[in-house]
Amino acid sequence: MTVERHDVVIVGGGIAGLVAAWALRDRDVVLIEAKDRVGGRIFNKRRDHNWMITGAHFIGGPDSPMGQLAAELGLETIRAEGEMATVWKDGRLVRGGRFETYPFRIPLSLAGRLSLIRTGIRLRLANMRARRYSDDPIRGLDGFDGPAVTVAGHPGLDAETFDKTLGRMHPEVEAIMRTIVNRVTAESHEMSGHFGAALVGNLWAKKTMDRRTILGGLTELTEAIAQRLGNRVMRDAPVEAVVADKDGVTVRAIQGGKEVMIAARYAIVATPAPITRRIVAGLPGDKAAALDAVRYGPYLNMAMLTNEVGPMSYDDIYMVGVIDRSFCMLYNTMNPVRRKGAPRTPGGALVVHSGAHQAAALLKRTDDEIRDIFLKDVYEIFPETRGIVTETWVQRWELGYPYWPPGRLGFQEALARPFGPIHFSGDYVGYASTGPTSQSSFLAAREVRKKLEAA
Ligand SMILES: Cc1cc2nc3c(=O)[nH]c(=O)nc-3n(C[C@H](O)[C@H](O)[C@H](O)COP(=O)(O)OP(=O)(O)OC[C@H]3O[C@@H](n4cnc5c(N)ncnc54)[C@H](O)[C@@H]3O)c2cc1C
Repeated sequence: MTVERHDVVIVGGGIAGLVAAWALRDRDVVLIEAKDRVGGRIFNKRRDHNWMITGAHFIGGPDSPMGQLAAELGLETIRAEGEMATVWKDGRLVRGGRFETYPFRIPLSLAGRLSLIRTGIRLRLANMRARRYSDDPIRGLDGFDGPAVTVAGHPGLDAETFDKTLGRMHPEVEAIMRTIVNRVTAESHEMSGHFGAALVGNLWAKKTMDRRTILGGLTELTEAIAQRLGNRVMRDAPVEAVVADKDGVTVRAIQGGKEVMIAARYAIVATPAPITRRIVAGLPGDKAAALDAVRYGPYLNMAMLTNEVGPMSYDDIYMVGVIDRSFCMLYNTMNPVRRKGAPRTPGGALVVHSGAHQAAALLKRTDDEIRDIFLKDVYEIFPETRGIVTETWVQRWELGYPYWPPGRLGFQEALARPFGPIHFSGDYVGYASTGPTSQSSFLAAREVRKKLEAA
C-alpha cells in the first residue's frame, strides 16, 4: 500500500478542521473528512432568496474570529437586529421591552411571578460572580491568545449544578428555565452553575451582542474554505486511527472501501470528543479521562421553507423561546435580510430547535412523525404559517452541543494539551460556538507552524 506524506494532516472538516487547514494553507496540508460534505454542525441549504438552516446560524461582529474570517474570504455579513427575547407561553407572544419586565408580562400565576423575580435576581447575582473571572464568561473566550485554549470560570459555581445555583422555583418558572437551558442541549441539573449563569445570566445583562450571519448562511464560509483548499480536502474518508510514531503521525482512513494511509509530521485532530477519544491511539490517562468527561446533549431541529408573498407578523423577530411545546426555540433565520424600508423579498425560512430531554424523546420517532409534531406547534404559535410551508428538513444532531458539566474547569488543561505531534481543536476544547472553536484551531495551527519552522 502506498503511504501519502504531508507536513500536516487535519482530521475532521467542521469549522475547527477547516480553520486549521486554512491557517496552514501555505504549507503541505491535507484535511480528511468522514462525510461527503464539509461543515459539520454548520449546515444550510440555499433556496432562491432564502436559506434553510439546521445548524449554527449566527456569528460575532467584524472583530470576532468568524467575522474576520468571513471578511478575509470576501463574504458579506449581515446584522441580526430582530427581537431576541420573544417568549411564547399559553397562546401569548410576549415581545419587545426589557427582559426585566417579563415577570409582569408572561402569563403566570402570582406565585409564579414572584418566583420568576426571585430567580431573575439569583441569576443576575450568579452572572456577576461568573463575570469576575472574565469580562464576559462566554464571549471572553473569543480573544484568548496563549499557546493553548484556556477558559476562565468561578470555582464555586463550576463545582455545583445550575439547578443548585437557581435554587427552588415555582413549577411555572421551572418550565421557563427548562426552555432556556434546553437550548444548549442540557438540563439544569446536568450543567455547572458557572455555565448556566454565564449563558442564561447574559440575557439579563445590558450588553447586547453584535450578532451577524453570512449572506446565504454559514455554509457559504465552510464551502468557500473547502473550495480554496481544493483537492487537499479528502471527503467520504472516515479516519479509523491516528497513531503517533517516531517520524510524526500516521493516519488510517477508509475511502471507497479501501484503506488509505497518510503520514505527516503533525496532526490536528478536529473531531468531536468521543470520536477523538476513539481514533487517537495511546492517549495518556488524564487526557483520555478528560475526553471521556466531555458531555454532549442532543439537538433535533427542523427547518421550514415558506412561500408567503407579503410581510409576516414575525418579520421583526429573530428568536422565540417556546414554553411547554415540542421545541424550545423557534428562529426566524431570514430576519437579518428584512431591512426597514427595503422591499420584502418573497418567501422565508424558519427553524425550530428541540434539545436535551425533548430531543431525546423525539429522536426515537420517524422524520414524518417529527415533522407533524413540530408543524402542529408552529401553526399554533404563528397560525399564518398554515398552508405556506413548502419544504421541511429534519436534522438529528446526536452530539449536538458540548455543555459544561460541574467540574468542567478542572479538565481544561488536559483537554487542550497536545499529545506529542498531535494537536487538538474543536468546540469541546473551549466554549461551544463557532468563534471560540475557530480560535482553538488558530492556536493549534500556530503551534504546529512554530514546530515546522523550528525544524
Ligand atoms: C443546532 C445548532 C445550532 C448552533 N448554533 C450556533 C450559532 O448560531 N452560532 C455559533 O457560533 N455556534 C452555534 N452552534 C455551535 C457550532 O455549530 C459548533 O460549536 C461548531 O460548528 C463545532 O465545530 P467543530 O468543527 O468543532 O465540530 P463539527 O462541526 O461537529 O465538525 C466535526 C467534523 O468531523 C467529522 N468527523 C467525525 N468523525 C470523523 C472521522 N472519524 N474521520 C474524519 N472526520 C470525522 C464530522 O463529519 C464533522 O464534519 C450550533 C450548534 C448546533 C448543533
